[in-house]
Amino acid sequence: MTIEKVNQLFQELEKLQVKASKLGWVQYTTGYDFGIEEAHKEIMDFLQDEKNYEIVCEYKEKDLDPINNRRMEIAYNIFKPYHLSKEINELNLEISKKTNDLSRILNTFRFNMDGKEITSVEIDQILSKEEDRKFRKKAYFVRNQINEALVDGGFIELINLRKQLAKACGSEDFVEYQLEKDELSPDIFSGWKEELEEYIDLLNERRSQYANKYIHEEEMFPWDEEYVKSQISPSLNTTVDMSNYYDAIRDFFINFGINIDEYNLTYDIFPRRNKSEWGYNFPIETGKDSRILANVKNQYSEYKVLLHETGHGVHSFLQDPSEIILNKGISGIITEGIANLFGGFLYDELFYKNFFSDDVEEEFKEMAQYEKLSYLRFIGNIFFDHALYRNDIDSIEDIYDLYFKTYEELFGDKPYNEAPPFGYRIHYTTHPIYMHNYFMGDVTCEMLRKVFCRDYGVNSISEKPKEFGEFLIENVIKPSGLYKYEELFKRISGEEFSLKWYF
Ligand SMILES: [Zn+2]
Repeated sequence: MTIEKVNQLFQELEKLQVKASKLGWVQYTTGYDFGIEEAHKEIMDFLQDEKNYEIVCEYKEKDLDPINNRRMEIAYNIFKPYHLSKEINELNLEISKKTNDLSRILNTFRFNMDGKEITSVEIDQILSKEEDRKFRKKAYFVRNQINEALVDGGFIELINLRKQLAKACGSEDFVEYQLEKDELSPDIFSGWKEELEEYIDLLNERRSQYANKYIHEEEMFPWDEEYVKSQISPSLNTTVDMSNYYDAIRDFFINFGINIDEYNLTYDIFPRRNKSEWGYNFPIETGKDSRILANVKNQYSEYKVLLHETGHGVHSFLQDPSEIILNKGISGIITEGIANLFGGFLYDELFYKNFFSDDVEEEFKEMAQYEKLSYLRFIGNIFFDHALYRNDIDSIEDIYDLYFKTYEELFGDKPYNEAPPFGYRIHYTTHPIYMHNYFMGDVTCEMLRKVFCRDYGVNSISEKPKEFGEFLIENVIKPSGLYKYEELFKRISGEEFSLKWYF
C-alpha cells in the first residue's frame, strides 16, 4: 500500500513553504517584505483545505507498513491543528501576522550608544574587549532599547494570542501545546532545576573565582561574562581575515568526508543596514538550497556561528530530499545538536590549526570546559520563555519582574535597576518554546561523543573524523525523521534522555 496521494500533497506544501522561506530570506537580509504574509496565508489555506485533510485522514486509517505509518503520523500532526475550529484558524492567522510585524521591527531596529548607531557585533566586541567595567555595563544595557519598541508593537498581545491558542486546542498552556507539537513529553523539563542545582553551585563558584582573578571583583555580572572569557582565552579575539572564510570552513568539513563545494550553500555574513543582526540558516529547500545569514567582523571567535550555521547547511544536504514527510519529523533538538556539534570545533585543533600554533591548546581547553559549564546560564532564557506563558502579563514591568524572578530562582541573581535586555533575543518573538533545542542539542552531542568514543575506542572525535562523519549519518541523520526525539535518543544511547549525559 503506497501513500502516493499524501506524498503529492506534501510536494505541493513544500513548494508553498519554499516560496515563503525565500521571502523570509529577503526580509532578513534586506528588510524588504515582498509578500510574506500572503505566502503564509497560502500555506494556511492549503493546510485548512478540507479535501487535503480528507486525503490525510483516509490514508491514516489504512493498513500500512511501519515507515508509512510514521509518515502518516507526521502528516496528520501537521494538518490536524487546522481542522479543530474556525476560532483556532483565525488565531493562527493573527499570530502569524503579528509575528511577522514584530520580526520586521526587530530586524530593522538599530541600537544607539552615546548618540551614535551601534551594531550588535560592535556591542559584542565591547563586551569582550573593554577593560572599563562601567563602559561594558553601559554597552550591555544598550540592548534593552528594543524592549519598548517590541511591547509597543504588540509583543504582549502576541503572547496572549498564543495563550488563547493553547487553550482553544485543549492544552494546559502554550508550553505544553508547543511540546506536543514537537513530539516531546510534557514533563521533559520537570526535575531540571533539582538536577542542575549542584552544577549551578559549581558554576557560581567558578564565576566568582574568575571574577577575582581577572577583574578583581567578588561577583561576575552579565556584562563581565564575555570580557572574562576573553581573559581566559585571549586568542579568541584574534583578528582574522574573514574574506577567506569559505576555504577555512570547506577545509574543515573535508575532515569528515563532507565536501561543501558539492552543495548549494549561500553565505551572507557581513553586517549591513536593514539586515538581521543574528545568525541563521534558512533551510530553503532540503538538499537543494540552503542559505546562511551571519554578522561577523574579522574576529576568530565569530567562526563559531559560521561553523554552527554551516552545520545546519550540511545537515540539510545529508538528508534525502525525496523524503519530504519524514524530514518534517526531524526534531529541532537533532537539528540544533548537529549545528552546535560543529560550532564546538572552534576550540578543537582540527579547526584552529589553520589559524594558530599549538600554544593555544591550554587556553582553548580551559575555555571549552568553562563554556560548557557557563552554558547552564542559557537555561535562564529557556525558563523565562516558559514563564511568559505561565503567568499573567499586562505590562512591560510584569515581563521584567518575571525575568528577574526566573534568574533569581535559578542562579541566585539579584535584580538590577536597569531594564533587562530580553527583547533583542528574537526567539521570544519568532521562535517561542524553541531554545531548549540548543541546550538539549548539546546534551545530545555529548551523548553522541561519548557513545562514539566508546564504540571506536578513541578519546576524541578528532582522532577519527571520517568515521565520525559516517557514524553521524548512519545513526543520527538517516533515522532522525523515523523516530520521535526521545525514542531516537534511547536507540543510540541505550538509556532515557537525561541531563546527566551533559556532564
Ligand atoms: Zn541553529
